[in-house]
Amino acid sequence: MRTAVVGSGPSGMYAADALLDQGFEVDVYDKLPVPFGLVRYGVAPDHFSIRSVRDTLDQVWGKPGIRFIGNVEVGRDITVDELRSAYSGVVLTYGASADRRLGIEGEDLEGSVAATDFVAWYTGHPDYSGPDFAELLARVRSVAVIGVGNVAVDVVRILSKSESELSQTDMPSHVLDVLRDAPVEKVYLIGRRGPVQASFTTKELKELGELEVADIRMSADDLDLDPWSEEQLAQSKVATRNVAVMQAWSGRQPRTDHERTIEMRFFSRPVRIEGDGHVDRLDIERTVLTDDGRLEGTGQHEAIDVDMVVRSVGYRGEAMPGVPFDPAANVIPNDEGRVVDADGPVSGLYVAGWIKRGPTGIIGTNKKCAVGTVASLIADRDAGLLQQSEGSAVDELLASRGITSVDIAGWRAIDTAEQSRGEGQGRPRETVWSREELLEIAATARAT
Ligand code: NAP
Repeated sequence: MRTAVVGSGPSGMYAADALLDQGFEVDVYDKLPVPFGLVRYGVAPDHFSIRSVRDTLDQVWGKPGIRFIGNVEVGRDITVDELRSAYSGVVLTYGASADRRLGIEGEDLEGSVAATDFVAWYTGHPDYSGPDFAELLARVRSVAVIGVGNVAVDVVRILSKSESELSQTDMPSHVLDVLRDAPVEKVYLIGRRGPVQASFTTKELKELGELEVADIRMSADDLDLDPWSEEQLAQSKVATRNVAVMQAWSGRQPRTDHERTIEMRFFSRPVRIEGDGHVDRLDIERTVLTDDGRLEGTGQHEAIDVDMVVRSVGYRGEAMPGVPFDPAANVIPNDEGRVVDADGPVSGLYVAGWIKRGPTGIIGTNKKCAVGTVASLIADRDAGLLQQSEGSAVDELLASRGITSVDIAGWRAIDTAEQSRGEGQGRPRETVWSREELLEIAATARAT
């Protein structure tokens, strides 16, 4: 039996691996010419150990029975129904790559950007078409990053690191040049609730206090906990560790040798972004948490001078044509990974990863999630619910539409080209960011 996995990020690769182990053949589709999704275009380039997950995922391509069908967008180049008739099972693992908005006045001013865009730009995403960060960052002295999750921490760190700290990453050279020349002096990290409710993890938080040229500051007032936060703190080891790190920072003498300052602000709700055509100020309102944990404004406002606002308030999943979707939760409705519509399970259609459960958890969470979905698929096979597959029907369909896909050899050629480009600059790799160039490298590999 042949199966299709749609999306080659961690959940897709873990699902493919589990399917191969069960004797299925697997075609892994990706709309990009390269695999690994958020491991390549989400995990921060300076997080070397997390990024090395890519080496583990890469090993899956070495197993018999797997193919990479890159540069093919399911839902545009080929429909989900066409895949369902060609394969015994289709597992959707295309993630949640859209951004969420704040819904406040001034959000569309020039200089107000989504973290998803900033991350896509600095990781060299081939489809990046957002703000011109070269132009924006050339005049940015003060930035507000809204949200206190791990993505916000990534954004703050990348904006605050020195040239030498970033020089070993695989970021495209033009990105490194822009970050090196950006005149950033101040980066605010802004949480609407308190330090106990922050969703970043301690290891990531701690790194902000260990940067070469940036000092971190926060007010002791934000650590004066209300009864609700005290109650929550007693139940959360992560929050307890986070608060201990922040307490040490609030009591520490400011550094005198720094070029940049990171200022953490909690109990600060963004109300309005102000400016004449571009961002000049962010209006924040002081908040409190009630005894039952509700967020309330105090009416006390402050306008902070900033040239850029980065909203880092979570990713959002999007619907795939022809597939049931829950627009309230932005996920595909499912029962243990079986996609369901109003009539029950949709035969042969499965889901795993962020588009199954929402954009939460660490990379490893996706392994358990994908293996759970594959267990449902296996149970359905054993119950005789899956059809035999149609062999090469899809290859013929794609060829008839003039679509050229990238295979594993194409990916290997891109991988090698990136490594040799990095070698010339004394770093392990430089990401090739242009889609044309990626396709050209893959085409040359095919021709030879
Ligand atoms: P997240 O952890 O859900 O954080 C979103 C943040 O946005 C929260 O602080 C939330 O505050 C805030 N927020 C939401 N709406 C807001 C609004 N209208 N105004 C102000 N603040 C608002 O999401 P994420 O940072 O995008 O991360 C996504 C997932 O990827 C997480 O599971 C994360 O751990 C993971 N990740 C991990 C790493 C790593 O391991 N190094 C790196 C990056 C991402 P409230 O809590 O008040 O809603």
